[in-house]
Amino acid sequence: MELVRKNTAARALVDAAQRAGERLALVPTMGYLHEGHRDLITRARAECDRVVVSIFVNPTQFGPNEDFARYPRDLERDLALCRDAGADAVYAPEVEELYPFGPGTLVVPPAALSSTLCGAFRPGHFDGVATVVAKLFALWQPQRAYFGLKDFQQTAVIARMVADLCFPVELVRVPTVREPDGLAMSSRNTYLSESDRATARALPRALAAGYRAAHAPGASTESVCALVRQELERAGITPQYVALVDPLTLAPSSEPARGVLAIAATVGATRLIDNLLLAEPSPFESLLESAP
Ligand code: AMP
Repeated sequence: MELVRKNTAARALVDAAQRAGERLALVPTMGYLHEGHRDLITRARAECDRVVVSIFVNPTQFGPNEDFARYPRDLERDLALCRDAGADAVYAPEVEELYPFGPGTLVVPPAALSSTLCGAFRPGHFDGVATVVAKLFALWQPQRAYFGLKDFQQTAVIARMVADLCFPVELVRVPTVREPDGLAMSSRNTYLSESDRATARALPRALAAGYRAAHAPGASTESVCALVRQELERAGITPQYVALVDPLTLAPSSEPARGVLAIAATVGATRLIDNLLLAEPSPFESLLESAP
């Protein structure tokens, strides 16, 4: 497995892959990898000839009071996980390599997708996400790119960018990998104290309750959101938002059982997000029943 630090080296690898007629997969990450990231890499490995994992804590997607400086980083451990999962290359550039002229040209997704949900609380976040993903696509020219449904709004924003800007890349959305008690895996879970971690179990529990409510007769978007909010508040969590939205437009869903139930909440000092595609089978029934 190759560690790529420079864009010139990236271009040489892309040229070689294209000359060989290989199908290249890109798995964009911010590092501090866990089993959720591993699933993306494993899937890419099974479906493509060359697998490139990017590890880059992207400054343009962090607000001024967010955790850019203290975001967890451990390149050696990440390299071991990537190697083990079968990646061919890890692209881990310095900030100056990807942003030689500072933030520079920005990709600005439509406000309907980027200013709602997390975007309402993280102004500019999805401009930063779209910009860095556009750079990665332009540099690596992947045939496929792998994203986790854990960041549902991100997948919606990137899908729209790919359509709007005619990127010749196929997006693959990978289901959320969860801890045994249902908590979605996240690099930020390492910020949680032991008691915060216990409180955080309320997020998947609330989503599971919302799932059941959405599939009950007479369910409405409002009643499902109210129930989820109540479940979180019962655990002492005041959510930033609880929303049930259309998976494509992110506008409030008119059909609760076909929408995406999305939540964001701060537990201790850690902002957590999670969501559930209500048209899919619930991932929780077996998980939560077997949880201690
Ligand atoms: P991040 O490093 O947090 O930016 O995440 C990199 C990619 O991994 C994104 O596409 C995420 O959606 C995905 N990802 C993060 N956590 C999970 C998870 N628990 N399950 C599946 N994919 C995930």
